[in-house]
Amino acid sequence: MDCIFCDIINGKSEAEILYEDENIISFLDIRPLNYGHTLVVPKKHYDNFLSLTSTELNYLINGLQTISRAVEKSVNADGFNIVVNSGKAAGQTVFHFHFHIIPRFTNDFSFSPNFKKYSNGSMKEFADKIRIELNTRRDSTDG
Ligand code: AMP
Ligand code: ZN
Repeated sequence: MDCIFCDIINGKSEAEILYEDENIISFLDIRPLNYGHTLVVPKKHYDNFLSLTSTELNYLINGLQTISRAVEKSVNADGFNIVVNSGKAAGQTVFHFHFHIIPRFTNDFSFSPNFKKYSNGSMKEFADKIRIELNTRRDSTDG
């Protein structure tokens, strides 16, 4: 299987590695949105967010917080975005799961979202569909 992140993990491709332990690796993104843009990656290959095991997710989340703190401090950022692109439609281009840590500076954030508006009653319909998938139930008469 051809995977650039597996190649980095196996030492077959170069990267600016920031942190590495038994389970996770972190390196600079080669096409940064801001300097210091960092990736946090499990060493085992998982295609996307939903294929991760909860054990792996725990390793990643803990590393993510420590590494985010270091990234933010190192570039004197005013904040940062943690981003996951899951699936091609969401902009995923490398199909080895990773978190992005993107340092942000006051006023540098440009994002033009096309906000939708729920029509009458449709917000509950969307919520119900998700609750069905989650197997949870919330009657409007509750609480
Ligand atoms: P995504 O679009 O969420 O799949 O993000 C993949 C990211 O990996 C992009 O931001 C790329 O710039 C980055 N990337 C691709 N190849 C490399 C590489 N060899 N070293 C570091 N970052 C890379
Ligand atoms: Zn891989």
